[in-house]
Amino acid sequence: MAGVRLASGQVVRAPVVLSNADPHVTFTRLLPPEVVGDKLLRKVGGLRWSLTALSLFFAARIDPEALGLSSGNLWWLAAPDVEACYRVGQDGPLDQLDTLPGLFLTVTSLKDRTKRKGDIHTLEAFWMVPYDPFAPWAGTKTGERPAAYLALKDKLQALMLRTLERALPGIGAGIVFAELGTPLTNEFYCASTRGGLYGTEKSLGQLGPLGFLGDTPIGGLHLCGASTLAHGVAGAAQTGLMAAARVLGCKVPELLDKDGPALTLLPADKPAAWPADLQAKAHRAAGLRP
Ligand SMILES: Cc1cc2nc3c(=O)[nH]c(=O)nc-3n(C[C@H](O)[C@H](O)[C@H](O)COP(=O)(O)OP(=O)(O)OC[C@H]3O[C@@H](n4cnc5c(N)ncnc54)[C@H](O)[C@@H]3O)c2cc1C
Repeated sequence: MAGVRLASGQVVRAPVVLSNADPHVTFTRLLPPEVVGDKLLRKVGGLRWSLTALSLFFAARIDPEALGLSSGNLWWLAAPDVEACYRVGQDGPLDQLDTLPGLFLTVTSLKDRTKRKGDIHTLEAFWMVPYDPFAPWAGTKTGERPAAYLALKDKLQALMLRTLERALPGIGAGIVFAELGTPLTNEFYCASTRGGLYGTEKSLGQLGPLGFLGDTPIGGLHLCGASTLAHGVAGAAQTGLMAAARVLGCKVPELLDKDGPALTLLPADKPAAWPADLQAKAHRAAGLRP
């Protein structure tokens, strides 16, 4: 590996390159086919990808604690049948549903109370959906997408809002802003293949030695991220540590033991335990006197 060329044309030389872009992006978009080779290209071409999602970003004038919400994440299911939920996620058909079988909800302004705006909280709701219904518009740009896409998006936003109301009756009345992200939104902002939330599908034939753990046949190129070992913020962070340890020839705990600033953990739901300056910031954000 000789380094990377940025979109600006600038070349950054480096003997080691670490890519957390997913394997499809890394091997088919960031490297030329003659470097990657047929064998690896066939493997990448046969990969199955994790589900993508509808993301409802919204702001609401609510008292989240009165609704039973905290800084944690709420997984709401209409019935205790997770397989059935995933079947809807895999197969749809989305536009014929009255409500979704489940919903993931998080109040971002309770995770970080300093980001609240007066009495308005910000929230995100997600549900897993297949990519295929959105594939006809792949490659189209925000603001230029055809009416059929916008109509589907409106329908799905209404579906998310109905599901939200079923999960938390009364919440809808407080909503002052809502915008739906579709799988194309994920594809654009995260640059992930098929808008996947979690990289490659975590099935047996795609994990461990059959996946993308470790270095690559391309000297100096290492992979990390959700498609290598484990997905999610914690999983992806762990793969970064493992890759760094591999490159440096040490063990992960040795990286964590190095001198650095002490990590302070503050309980998100107990601002009284925070340092005074942060407490004052959170009070100001909530429109209260410090
Ligand atoms: C809407 C949403 C909500 C989520 N919520 C949660 C959650 O609550 N908890 C949780 O644990 N996980 C959550 N996840 C999953 C989690 O975010 C991912 O598993 C994790 O961020 C993956 O990290 P990564 O380093 O593998 O990839 P990413 O963080 O996706 O990083 C890949 C990087 O590659 C870059 N890239 C791609 N193509 C190119 C290119 N051609 N040139 C240059 N750079 C490129 C991208 O810009 C990006 O910065 C969520 C994901 C999404 C999309």
